[in-house]
Amino acid sequence: MFDLNELYQQVILDHNKNPRNFGPLPEADRDAEGHNPLCGDHYHVYVKLDGDRVAEVRFSGEGCAISKAAASVMTEAVKGRTTEEIQELFDSYQALVMGRAGADVSMEKLGKVAVFSGVSEFPMRVKCAILPWHTLKAALENTEEPVTTE
Ligand code: ZN
Repeated sequence: MFDLNELYQQVILDHNKNPRNFGPLPEADRDAEGHNPLCGDHYHVYVKLDGDRVAEVRFSGEGCAISKAAASVMTEAVKGRTTEEIQELFDSYQALVMGRAGADVSMEKLGKVAVFSGVSEFPMRVKCAILPWHTLKAALENTEEPVTTE
């Protein structure tokens, strides 16, 4: 039998080991810092906008496997999207990892970020999975204050 959970776990382990778009982005025009004191996750997200579209996105920092994989998958998922599309994706993703995804959340639309659906079974990990997205949102909104999940 094909085990979906195992597949999801593989993706998360892979992104933790080989994070995509990892490292600073010198030409970034937006950036933000995010911190999850509960777990010790600490990330910086860098964005280069082209009008309303994210042309380039990278992240740096350290944290647990879930947070790092979430940041890595996020950078792949949002690159080339408009800020409005990203907000929609963020809302669906947040509902998914908090276990509140109803029929209105399309798995197809979520794409790769759907691998984090299993996080909803681990309440302690939800903040880890959401931190990179909050940090990205802060960067897009040009928030000066560092983001914290507390
Ligand atoms: Zn964490």
